[in-house]
This record gives sequence, C-alpha cells and structure tokens, in this order.
Amino acid sequence: MELAFAAPFGLMIGSFLNVVAYRLPRGESLVAPASHCPGCETPIRPWDNIPLLSWVFLRGRCRSCGVRISPRYPLVELLTGVLFAVVAAVHGLHAELAVELPFVAMLIAVADIDLEHRVVPNKILLPVAVWGAAASAVVRTGALPELLIAGAGAFTFLLVAALIHPAGMGMGDVKLAGVMGLYLGVSVVPALLVAFLAGSIAGLALMLRHGSQGRKKGVPFAPFLALGGVVGLLAGHQLVHLYIHHFL
Ligand SMILES: [Zn+2]
Repeated sequence: MELAFAAPFGLMIGSFLNVVAYRLPRGESLVAPASHCPGCETPIRPWDNIPLLSWVFLRGRCRSCGVRISPRYPLVELLTGVLFAVVAAVHGLHAELAVELPFVAMLIAVADIDLEHRVVPNKILLPVAVWGAAASAVVRTGALPELLIAGAGAFTFLLVAALIHPAGMGMGDVKLAGVMGLYLGVSVVPALLVAFLAGSIAGLALMLRHGSQGRKKGVPFAPFLALGGVVGLLAGHQLVHLYIHHFL
C-alpha cells in the first residue's frame, strides 16, 4: 500500500526536482516554458516525459534530434522514487509524511545542484525551512522546541567548523545543516556524524587518487549532508538510543 502510493509519487516529484536543479541555478522560471530538448529545443511530448520509463524507451536520446540525454535525470527520478517508498514503508502512511517527503526532496535537489554548481540556493532552503516549522507545528505538536534547538545547534556547529576550516564548506552548507536540524530534531547529531565521516572518506580517496592536487580540488559537502540527512531520517532515533544505552 505504502509502496504503491509513494514510489510513483516519488518518480513524479523526482521529475520536478530535475526541472528545479536545471533551471533554478540558471535563474529560469520553474513553470514556463514547458520542458524542451536541450539540443534541438523541440518541446518534449507528455508521453516522452514519463519519469524513468521514457528515458529507458528512448535509450537516453531525444526523439527528434537524437542528442544524448544525461542518465543523471532518470537517476534522480529513480532515487526520489526509491527514497519516498522507503520513507513511507519505514514510517507508514501518516501525517508526518507532509514533513518527511519534502525534506527528502529538498536533500536530493540541493545535493544535485551542489554537485554541478557548487552552491546551495537560498531559494530552496528558505521556503523549505518555513514549511518545516509551519508543518511541524501542525503535525508534530510538542516537538517544535526540540526542532528549533536542533536547527540552531546544527547551524552553529557547522558555522564554527566553517570558520575554522573555510576551504571545507561554505555558508550554504551551514544553512543546510540548520534546516536539517529543524526537520530532524536530535537525529541531526547522527546525521552530521555520517556526513563528516562520509565526506572525510571521500576527501581521503580523492587525495590518494590525485595527490595533494585532489585536496585543492575540494569536494562539495551538501551531497554528504544530504546522505547524513537521509540516514538521520530513517535511523536517527535508533542511532541516538544505541549511543545512549551503550556509551553513557
Ligand atoms: Zn532534440
């Protein structure tokens, strides 16, 4: 039941996230004009714009001019479909999905944009932060103080880290961490741990491959924060309990 609802919904939202990730950093409108081929400008017909399936049937090419369409688009759709289904399956169909699914969608969009453009847009963070606070006040009554404290805490923690090590992250990452706290509450702690751990491993791997050059290249941090955010959402409470029972 959860999967039948959440997976197709996720594929559709993933398709929208592709539009956001392509157009928003370029300052283009999200609603007009309709999707067109980046090669020949031909408007994409509705039946050629079915998430995931159209790309597979057209073998990753435009129907009109045959230009290659990046596999990144169906991958974003697939990832969104899978994560929406997993969140719905783990947490069940309940009102908190109104908080959890937009959070997942935001993480995918900012990771995607940061990978290409090295920015985490305020135009995404701000409305998502407002939505998180407003929706949580309705569906998570009582949790709001914890969420606000976690948001402020995560923001401050990353701000200090960014001041100590300016090359490692930007203000976009700091603000993203704040929004993650606002959505995750105390689960933002394991989320940030996962992000720093995964980011360090990736940085190390890059250094081993490219020497000190790799270090200078730098790694965008938002994808790692997004990974941590997903772990925090799915398993944050279990990880916090595990820690409290085994180490305190
Ligand atoms: Zn074309």
